[in-house]
Formats: sequence, structure tokens, C-alpha cells
Amino acid sequence: MDANAKAAVLVEALPYIRRFWGKVVVVKYGGNAIGDDASPAAFAEDIVLMRSVGMRPVVVHGGGPQIGDLMNRLGKTPEFRDGLRVTDAETLDIARMVLVGKVNRDIVSTINVHGPLAVGLSGEDAGLIRAEAKSPELGYVGEVSGVDPTIVERLLAQELIPVIATIGSDDEGQAYNINADTAAGAIAAAVGAEKLVYLTNVEGLRRDKDDPSTLISSTTTTELAALVADGTVVEGMIPKVASCIEAVRNGVGQAHILDGRVAHALLLEVFTQTGIGTMVTA
Ligand code: ADP
Ligand code: MG
Repeated sequence: MDANAKAAVLVEALPYIRRFWGKVVVVKYGGNAIGDDASPAAFAEDIVLMRSVGMRPVVVHGGGPQIGDLMNRLGKTPEFRDGLRVTDAETLDIARMVLVGKVNRDIVSTINVHGPLAVGLSGEDAGLIRAEAKSPELGYVGEVSGVDPTIVERLLAQELIPVIATIGSDDEGQAYNINADTAAGAIAAAVGAEKLVYLTNVEGLRRDKDDPSTLISSTTTTELAALVADGTVVEGMIPKVASCIEAVRNGVGQAHILDGRVAHALLLEVFTQTGIGTMVTA
């Protein structure tokens, strides 16, 4: 790339830097994107760059495949009902150890290669994620019953980057495993985020789940609700789409679903005109 082209790229970023200065951007880093080899270092660079130009990124991460791996190593067979992991007390312990003790630590360390920026949290910390049982058959799978964003706001005020594992807790201190998509949407709404970005393992929402050429580049909450109703959206895409709708209806400016396995997908989405992935607006 010659000098003019490099300068053009930087200038292209200028309106986005100005527009998002001081704004909160919640990024959900999916377990499937995390598992991809090239991804973590580039992801950390994007988050640190966003923070360095005045945005206030909040990372919410998943870890389903990582939980599945440890369960396999321990000889425990995962059981799913309607795409949700049946979570007995032992599975909850495993999920919590993997999410809080491993995946969260890895993301925090990768970001902190660039400076003392990231602080890891569990949704149990400072009452961040209140949870209740989703259904008795699923065990300790929680639904978000409330978000207290105070701890996140405090960390952001100190110019730190919160990295959140989505374990919630109820009034009695019982922990629950919460779907990270749902938690990210609820946190984005609670902190009044300008933008919510889902990094997953597909380039965006497709009109035909199995056909990459049917990518929906831009859509509205009304159209999305119809896509859920007609069965276009299935499996792991359901909680993403549902929380995009919920977050945008609760004041988040825009939500995006992107392929987190593509190096710097986040950077391209946030700082360039190139529309990648799916954008959801009101
Ligand atoms: P993550 O770890 O990012 O949460 P998930 O596997 O839970 O990943 O969700 C992403 C998956 O959702 C995709 O890989 C795809 O198999 C599935 N999916 C379901 N419906 C659609 C759709 N309409 N368009 C794209 N992907 C879809
Ligand atoms: Mg998922």
C-alpha cells in the first residue's frame, strides 16, 4: 500500500472516531470465534485501538465449545434441550471454572499485553447480573432478571476495559450459567451503549442458513422479528437476534453480527465504511 492509500484509510476512520468518542461499545466475543487460532491477538488489538481513540469498549464473552471440551476430558456427556445445555451442579462448576477461570483470564491477559487496561469480572461480581432459573428441566441455566451496571460504569470511568464472564447469581447467591448473547444485550441496554457487536463464526445473518450468498447486510428490528417467526433464524442465532431486537428497542443505537474469525473484523466494522456482516437498526 502506498503512502496516499495509507493516509486515506486513516482519514476514513476520522468521522467514526469523532462519532464514537466517549461512547460505550459492547462487544460479545463468541466461544466459536475465540477458538479460532488467529483471532485472539487481533481481537485484543482492535479493542485496545478502540479504547485508545476514546471509545469505551466492554467485552462480554461466551465459551460454549471450551466448556464442552473440558466436559469431554472429564468424561461427562453434554446434554442439550432446545439448544440449551442441561446444567446440573457439577456442570455449573465446570462452566464457571472454564468461563471465569480460563476463557476470561485468557482474554484479559491478551488485552493487557498492550498495557494495564482490562479487568476481568464475572456477572456475580458487585451484583452485575441477577439471574433466575430458566426452567426446572435445565438446572442451573439462568435467565437475566436484572443488570446492575454500576461496576461496569465505575471501571469505564477509570478508563479500564471490563471483560465479563456471563455467570449470574440469584438473591440467595446461587450461581447460574447465562447465555452470553442474552447477557451482552442486557448489559448494552443497561449501560446505554451506542453499539452492540456480536463476533461469531458466520459472516452475518443469512436469509438461507446454509447459503453464504444470502447475507442480510442491513435490517430492522421489525424485519428481524419476522425472520425469527418464520424459522429463518435457528440454533445459536436465536439468542443473538432476540437480544439485538431487545437492545435496539431499549435504546442501543445499532447492533451488528460479524464473523469474529476474520482478523480485525471489529476494526473494519467500527472504523470503515465497508459494510461487513449484518447491521440492525430501529
Ligand atoms: P457463538 O459462539 O458465536 O454464539 P453459535 O454457534 O451459538 O456461535 O451461533 C452461530 C451459528 O448460528 C452459526 O454458525 C449458524 O450455524 C447458526 N445459524 C442459525 N441460523 C442462522 C442464520 N439464519 N444465518 C446465519 N447463521 C445461522
Ligand atoms: Mg452461541
